[in-house]
Amino acid sequence: MIGHFPRANTLELIGNTPLVLLQGPSEAAGCEIYGKCEFANPGASVKDRAALGIIRDAEARGDLTDGGTIVEGTAGNTGIGIALVANALGYKTIIVMPDNQSSEKMATLRALGAELVLVPPTKFSDCNHFVHTSRRLAQETEGAIWANQFDNTANRKAHIDGTAAELWEQLEGRIDGFTCAAGTGGTIAGVGMGLKAFDDSVQIALTDPHGAALYSYYAEGELRSEGSSVAEGIGQGRITANLEGAPIDTQFRISDEEGLDWVARLLREEGLCLGLSSGINVAGAIALGKQLVDSGRENPRVATILCDTGFRYLSSLYNREWLEAKGLPVFEWLRD
Ligand code: PMP
Repeated sequence: MIGHFPRANTLELIGNTPLVLLQGPSEAAGCEIYGKCEFANPGASVKDRAALGIIRDAEARGDLTDGGTIVEGTAGNTGIGIALVANALGYKTIIVMPDNQSSEKMATLRALGAELVLVPPTKFSDCNHFVHTSRRLAQETEGAIWANQFDNTANRKAHIDGTAAELWEQLEGRIDGFTCAAGTGGTIAGVGMGLKAFDDSVQIALTDPHGAALYSYYAEGELRSEGSSVAEGIGQGRITANLEGAPIDTQFRISDEEGLDWVARLLREEGLCLGLSSGINVAGAIALGKQLVDSGRENPRVATILCDTGFRYLSSLYNREWLEAKGLPVFEWLRD
């Protein structure tokens, strides 16, 4: 049940996030576009759900026991979710992260008491990649588990049981489409599977940033990437275990500029301060909404994910020098 009932403990603050009708995007699409406010989770991102799901699953299997340690490789948000859940349950956290992620995420992880290991950003095939480093560290640390968010399907299960069920309830069973970008793929696969189980006609679209390989995979069956993106937390180059069997009906490729434009508009016109993956998701939701309108669906309703708070990117997305250095348009109100 979604509402303002008292929660029995802090972990119950994860999930049951609000859903908001987005005005500008709805107008642009010509139908209702809804944003699931995942920035309202205690760790301010969608990844709190996966963190809790993975930890509860490891406990249920008997892999994680009193005083144990959780090790994970992450772009940041999963680490923040794991550190919060671990603190609440008495576990230790070790996070391995590429050193090109936002300084806010690093500072947050340190502030939460996680042990932070920074590695240079490398290709997945490199043995020093943050994912492989975290697996090795977990093997070497006594009483530790490796969360393995990319290939541990407890991640997507959190979205089947949580996010999808909540969307269905919040929209009273009237939802025509859902889309979001993929990092691990847990959100798109889990929400897609969960919604299809309620109603097989709900259209599920993957929204891919440039530089990721999933758009071409779902369009042509071949993993191929073009260009690049500065969006953190999204952009996958392989079919993770979480993505296996994801019910993707259609796909869109969205540029950073288009995503940033929606980040700017949502902030200035609707008072929402978000990260870039949310802007890319909203642009994808508009594309899906238009497609559903064109296909003759009456007043379609599309939902997407507002993944994390923009406060996590003050030194990047909301910083003039950073935007200029990346060759990206500077928000009008940051120009002088
Ligand atoms: N946006 C942000 C900001 C994220 O940190 C993540 C997680 N990596 C995602 C989107 C994508 O979520 P998922 O891992 O479920 O695909």
